Amino acid sequence: MRKTSAKGPAPLDKVITCIEKATKEGRSTLAIFDLDGTLFDNRTRTIFILREIAEKFDSRVPGLARAFRTFQDLSVVDYSLDVTLARVGVRGAETEFIKQEWAKRFFSDGYQKFDMPIAGAKAYVNRVHKAGATVIYLTGRDVGRMLVGTTEVLRLYGFPVGIEGTMTIVKKEFEQDDELFKKEVSEYIRRLGEVACIFENEPANSNILQARFPSAESFFVLTQHRPGAPALNPGIHRIKDFLPAAGPTARSRK
Ligand SMILES: [Mg+2]
Repeated sequence: MRKTSAKGPAPLDKVITCIEKATKEGRSTLAIFDLDGTLFDNRTRTIFILREIAEKFDSRVPGLARAFRTFQDLSVVDYSLDVTLARVGVRGAETEFIKQEWAKRFFSDGYQKFDMPIAGAKAYVNRVHKAGATVIYLTGRDVGRMLVGTTEVLRLYGFPVGIEGTMTIVKKEFEQDDELFKKEVSEYIRRLGEVACIFENEPANSNILQARFPSAESFFVLTQHRPGAPALNPGIHRIKDFLPAAGPTARSRK
């Protein structure tokens, strides 16, 4: 049995109970999950890509090839590729070339399988789905270059996808602004039913969605986000992962 605090069940568990109750009463509920930085850690994708560039173009990117001789752990990977390259000592002319080659790969179907699911994410999304909510993957990835890879990776890692009670919403165009896209889509989602929970890793998106769906439980996943992001609004739960509250690594806090 899951432990509960004096204040009641942990927020992640509370969401499941609310969804189950609504399902029993015949009401439709929705659960919104962002992907990058929310259900998946993208740092492994970047490291894999940089490694591939270093191997394939070793004479053209000597700094990067050298960096991998001493590469130690994922903590060198920042949200910004410029920062990451500076951290591993890559400078000068090769930087622009690396960035171009990285972008070609990072924003494409073929490389998403190198993302790493956040701890507990698969199990939690499955619990939400089983409780009866429609799982909505709402992501700034685009349909032309990334939908196929997105679906493939969700299936590969055991997330519910393509079946009853699931929905994947991506951008029509890569160039669309992420925040504007999520704002516009939320109007559509509002018409589908009651939003029970929202999971995001970008403070701006988290604030937008919380304002749009104030009765939903809103969660902010502490991974990486865009620099210069606004402060997170009050009332949004901060979580490091999706592991159960009863576990030794419970970190959910308000
Ligand atoms: Mg994200």
